[in-house]
Amino acid sequence: MVLQLMARHSAGFHPLSYSVWYEYLAGSNPGLRAALDARLAQTTVLSDRDIEVLFDAHVAMRDIDSSARMRAEIARMIDHVDDVAVEAGEEVGHYGDELAGHRDRLREQVGPDALHQVVESLIGETTRVRVKTGIYHEHLKKSSEEVERLRGELELVQGLALTDPLTGLLNRRGFDQQMQRIGHGSVQGCTLLIVDIDHFKAINDAHGHLLGDKVIVAVANVLRGCIGDRGPIARIGGEEFAVLLSHTSSAGGVELAERIRAAVERGKIRRADTEESIGNVTVSLGLATCGDNEQFEAMITRADRALYQSKAAGRNRVTVAERAPSAAA
Ligand code: GH3
Ligand code: MG
Ligand code: MG
Repeated sequence: MVLQLMARHSAGFHPLSYSVWYEYLAGSNPGLRAALDARLAQTTVLSDRDIEVLFDAHVAMRDIDSSARMRAEIARMIDHVDDVAVEAGEEVGHYGDELAGHRDRLREQVGPDALHQVVESLIGETTRVRVKTGIYHEHLKKSSEEVERLRGELELVQGLALTDPLTGLLNRRGFDQQMQRIGHGSVQGCTLLIVDIDHFKAINDAHGHLLGDKVIVAVANVLRGCIGDRGPIARIGGEEFAVLLSHTSSAGGVELAERIRAAVERGKIRRADTEESIGNVTVSLGLATCGDNEQFEAMITRADRALYQSKAAGRNRVTVAERAPSAAA
């Protein structure tokens, strides 16, 4: 879609231009959208200079803005924790001095009155330190919560929170976000595939978890190869994947699903240690095409049910879900 849009506006085909048009289309950058729309109201063809200005103002700057802000927040936190640590150190140091003083007094022959005084003073000092360190404890607890929040925010900025580290595909959260982008909850004209590795537990049990991971990565690569840029691909569970094909009919989806199934079946995965082949890995698929105004969740449920039917019918096959109930009343 980005490339089509770029062609329509005779845009230059280079990475900077692509970033600008991608962000424009994705709709996640309102400032860029408004600026580009304003420019498009004046002319249909933007020069490379136009694109460069838009990129600097709305794409590059945004990243710099957010990292500068986060840098400032982290620096502020470090200062705060440092203050608390110094103060707590002084407090405990003072307490240590007091204790040393009492210890010295106990070395002398002191009567009950003096002892009473020592005990009273010990109770007073200890209570004070306990209250103070309780306050420091609270400060530090708040700080570590804040650090956790910043980490989450950083991960979001880096896209890590949306990516599955094993396969590099989207994770469930990333997939949901793409879904929101594509259809605001309803994904008309799309076909969803759910792909699940057959008898995966047996592969793990026979060859170990590491080889199991290798199988997951191999299936992810087959999906990448077959789908290309036809839609987002995600690992939504341990050995379960989802693919959303935009503007794809049920028939088109079945053809692709069948190609994926066959490619996995043909693939050969060997153990690194013994070179022994682990036998055929297969996948089962469920497929659902979005009905009129159908919500994403409903489509997932139908695709899941179709997947279950593929499993029940013997695995290594594709099942098309029953049609969505018509939305028309
Ligand atoms: P079915 O054909 O019905 O799908 O059977 P299955 O054995 O594939 O399905 P089941 O859900 O019983 O088992 C899935 C297994 O996947 C169980 C779990 O230990 C394993 N698993 C989940 N996540 C991972 C992972 O990240 N790596 C590896 N190696 N195994 C995983
Ligand atoms: Mg499975
Ligand atoms: Mg599963």
